[in-house]
Amino acid sequence: MVNWPIAAAKYAFIAIISVAILTFFSNSNAQNDILSKAHHTPTGFKNNYTPKVNKSFGDFLRWQWESWGLDKTANSPTPSVQADLALLKAPASPAVTWLGHATALVQASGLTVLVDPVFSERASPVQLFGPKRAQPPGVAMADLPDIDAVLISHNHYDHLDRASVALLDEKAKAAGKTTLFIVPLGLKAWFNGMGIASVVELDWWQHHTIQGVEFHLTPVQHWSARSINDRSTTLWGGWAVLGADFHWYYAGDTGYSRDFADTAKHFAPRQSEALGGGFDLALVPVGAYEPRWFMSQQHVNPMESVRIHQDVGAKRSIGVHWGTFALTDEPLDQPPRDLAIARQALNVTEADFGLLAIGESRQFAKRQSKNTLAAR
Ligand SMILES: [Zn+2]
Repeated sequence: MVNWPIAAAKYAFIAIISVAILTFFSNSNAQNDILSKAHHTPTGFKNNYTPKVNKSFGDFLRWQWESWGLDKTANSPTPSVQADLALLKAPASPAVTWLGHATALVQASGLTVLVDPVFSERASPVQLFGPKRAQPPGVAMADLPDIDAVLISHNHYDHLDRASVALLDEKAKAAGKTTLFIVPLGLKAWFNGMGIASVVELDWWQHHTIQGVEFHLTPVQHWSARSINDRSTTLWGGWAVLGADFHWYYAGDTGYSRDFADTAKHFAPRQSEALGGGFDLALVPVGAYEPRWFMSQQHVNPMESVRIHQDVGAKRSIGVHWGTFALTDEPLDQPPRDLAIARQALNVTEADFGLLAIGESRQFAKRQSKNTLAAR
């Protein structure tokens, strides 16, 4: 005869042990998962192809000493135009608008997306000193259309600006809308700390989908920090955005590495000729690159920018991250000249890799797969 209380106790005991074992193994699997990713380390994130990109304080002092008294005056101001606000409200085809430095508005596949919004006077932890903008933003915060998503490449002050993020969030909430912030791993808490709950954080090669449009975080070679004790504790990256009628890429802030060839390879199955080809547009940094001994691992120069355009397989590229904040030794008007030299050296036309004036928009044809064309 079965002793039911003892049998029940036995089954309960077995169930508890099983759950404990399963929990242990699933946790250790999760742990292995994290450690198996080469860019995750116990002290922070690291790059795929170089052990260290950020320089020592001693190197920083050497740079400051050597560039002391250097004439960084630009001969001509960065071109700027009055933004076409009607176009921003209802673009007929995929459109990009450059707002200055790394801030750009991309409207495609039914979504309006802002990258690295910086609208403040200075790219700095405080507004009393630090790099001051030479040009106002190409579109005033008040004139922005409703933003569906904001993409952040990393937490440096010229890419992630607290005041701009707060204003964007307030503006969306006041209009009864939600702006989603899509950020690299480790940055969600920073947004939550500001009372912003609509945040998705991603690791390299992970993606988030909004209305059928995929936002993929991709590896680039850089680092992160907002203070002296948080070096590389949050991730950095580029963004590949894949919509049915437009594929675009934003390289964020980066040195030159094999990450761009990896990116092309990763998306190749989605970008065959039959499926409409490579990225319809790439936004690639072209400024803040001198002196090379200090900058080369973290910031590309225009020659490398054009290589990125070629490596990721972009049909068209537009240079960003220039002409707004004087962060490095080259004058603000040097990137266009160096980009022209790079284009010539690498056989790329200005139509394929050009620049915009601050506030200028450019529209692009929608991508079409062979199937869409055949169905016409
Ligand atoms: Zn940076």
